[in-house]
Amino acid sequence: DAKANGRGRWSFFDSSMQEQVLAKDKLSRELRKAIDVDGLSLAYQPQTDTSGKTIVAVEALARWNHPELGPISPVTFIPLAEETGLINDLGIWVLNQACKNAHRWPDIVVSVNVSPTQFKHPRFVETILETLDHHKLPPSRLEIEVTESVFAGQDKPILNALKRLKDLGVKVALDDFGAGYSSLSFLRKFPFDTLKIDRNFLSAMDDDQGAKAILATIISLGKALGMTVVAEGVETAEQMSFLTGLGCHRMQGFYIARPMEGCLLEEFLADMSFSANMPETCGSEAQ
Ligand code: C2E
Ligand code: MG
Ligand code: MG
Ligand code: MG
Repeated sequence: DAKANGRGRWSFFDSSMQEQVLAKDKLSRELRKAIDVDGLSLAYQPQTDTSGKTIVAVEALARWNHPELGPISPVTFIPLAEETGLINDLGIWVLNQACKNAHRWPDIVVSVNVSPTQFKHPRFVETILETLDHHKLPPSRLEIEVTESVFAGQDKPILNALKRLKDLGVKVALDDFGAGYSSLSFLRKFPFDTLKIDRNFLSAMDDDQGAKAILATIISLGKALGMTVVAEGVETAEQMSFLTGLGCHRMQGFYIARPMEGCLLEEFLADMSFSANMPETCGSEAQ
């Protein structure tokens, strides 16, 4: 270690920082490669309608199964991609894959997460258009999810992009609503089609009457503003029936189904009595 080889105490930190930088560098080069050679895949998580019985949408979630390290969470590689400038290419890959696969599930809306950098790219709307056109997918079959962090800073170009997407018929969802600082005026200013309530409200409702009141209020607020309201993170039958009672438009969570590869989604759609503990992958499918 640093002391034993006679260098000052800071050299320990220096070399470990250097190692971290090198490891990050290596990981980002591997991510670059994964994007280029289809080393990523998508998992799809179903969303039911109010009845809880029909699947009306799926959220596409990026997956990276690293050849040596195994599965790496998007919570790790999405910020890495943001930081190292790979997010636009990664986002284009995700969008292409989702639009291509959407044909396998007619009538189901496919929801794709879009990061702030990607949304702010001057060609973002064109890329969406070109991708829909390339895959001959009607715009109404695509929803994009953004978080409020997209709206930090300049309003005008963001508002314009949002309106253009809406005019095209692509749905725009505000993801993780309530997790940050979004104010009510924010919801009026930006014309979202869909409001996704952050899953923390649901997990809090079990032992907190206040969380229930907030959930009920957000749902009626979203409805009053003409938005489709989606609850994320539904994990129990109690949560599901509470949401059904409030007329929440769509529900998503482990209680309904975990994210799964496309081939498993097909089975799930055919027979909804799927176990919530199914593996996420089906093994042999080339993505
Ligand atoms: P998100 O968009 O809010 O996606 C929902 C996350 O909640 C997913 O995690 C999903 O697996 C998880 N989830 C769903 N139902 C439940 C539940 O009942 N309980 C719990 N505890 N969790 C549930 P995942 O797939 O790990 O993705 C994490 C985040 O990574 C996403 O959060 C999104 O912000 C980001 N992400 C994933 N794929 C993409 C992508 O293609 N592009 C971008 N820009 N971001 C992505
Ligand atoms: Mg999302
Ligand atoms: Mg979310
Ligand atoms: Mg999130």
